[in-house]
Amino acid sequence: MSESKYHFETEAIRTQAERSSFLEHSSPIYVTSSYVFEDAEDMRASFTEEKQRNIYSRFSNPNCTEFVEKVCKMEGAESGFAFATGMAAVFSTFAALLSSGDHIVSARSVFGSTHTLFTKYFPKWNINTSYFKVNELDKVESLIKPETKILYVESPTNPGVEVLDLDFLGKLAAKHNILFVVDNCFATPYIQNPIKFGAHLVIHSATKLMDGQGRVLGGITVGRADLIREIYLFSRNSGPALSPFNAWVLSKSLETLAVRVEKHCENATRLAEYLEGHSNVLSVKYPFLKSHPKYEVAKKQMKLGGNIVAFEIKGGLEKGRDFLNKILFCTLSANLGDTRTIVTHPASTTHSSLSEEDRLEAGITSGLIRVSVGLEAVEDVIEDISQALS
Ligand SMILES: *Cc1c(COP(=O)(O)O)cnc(C)c1O
Repeated sequence: MSESKYHFETEAIRTQAERSSFLEHSSPIYVTSSYVFEDAEDMRASFTEEKQRNIYSRFSNPNCTEFVEKVCKMEGAESGFAFATGMAAVFSTFAALLSSGDHIVSARSVFGSTHTLFTKYFPKWNINTSYFKVNELDKVESLIKPETKILYVESPTNPGVEVLDLDFLGKLAAKHNILFVVDNCFATPYIQNPIKFGAHLVIHSATKLMDGQGRVLGGITVGRADLIREIYLFSRNSGPALSPFNAWVLSKSLETLAVRVEKHCENATRLAEYLEGHSNVLSVKYPFLKSHPKYEVAKKQMKLGGNIVAFEIKGGLEKGRDFLNKILFCTLSANLGDTRTIVTHPASTTHSSLSEEDRLEAGITSGLIRVSVGLEAVEDVIEDISQALS
């Protein structure tokens, strides 16, 4: 993958698939399942390492390649592969790199489906996971065994907006010669580049802020070329590829990622500051608020605070549910990182089937409200949340 020549915003717009004979300005969608060969020799060479070219859209196509190249430049990564969903990226990354008997060390606060893979599916293939709490990084080293292959985290976390020290974890992984893999979905490459802190691979659900408009699903893994090669070969054969249409949507979205994320973060900061002074709010979690327990770490590794604000409503479970029912235009939805502000109360909805103990283990207190702050006028968002809190 080529090195970045220009600034982030320029690469986001100017990284583009080669123009076709029509000399289009903006990249077209290559809706084709396969590509043709000139002759028998071309076809033979295309199935060896001699030629890098499009063969079949399960392997590669120009829209996916453009999307991958952009994200590689944004993350400072050597190479990447695009997937149909964020979970396809997570699953394929582990499946390609791990064997029976291998071990994972992971933060307990990871995306729900990732946790389900670790607890329910990977053990079927004799791949087991040990967990640490996000505020117990001093215990991580003691969990690393000779069989440990991957150290895995998300930062900031969902839904508690905890921040993990990536530099500390990157150095720990290097010391023990294990892979450090970071799900960077909440930060986006505009805010945080885990590779700078020692990550070998970075995963994104492109469904969230990368698309940013609640339209398509997508995922991507970028990082060290030799690891991506393994992931590519696994995926080429197992088939979790991103569709050309979704890749086209996502590549277009990345053209505006910087301006969107700037505005998301500005709105989120305004909301977080408002909530900090509210009498029905016990506490507010936002990485760039001085009151955040990991404020210094956040400032060190993030350019902005992100678009997720979490707060603890007075009155716990019952008041949390009331809050959701009183909300007027902000939406109750399972997505995040959308133009539309989304509110959730995990304890009474997404995580209601867990015991209180398990919820607390994952950082979900009974009054925790998560707001994915959108791009509406922030005054309107604050007013909606304010009336629902009163
Ligand atoms: C949404 C999400 C995923 C899964 O992505 P999908 O595109 O929904 O499959 C993984 N990790 C994090 C942190 C997410 O928020």
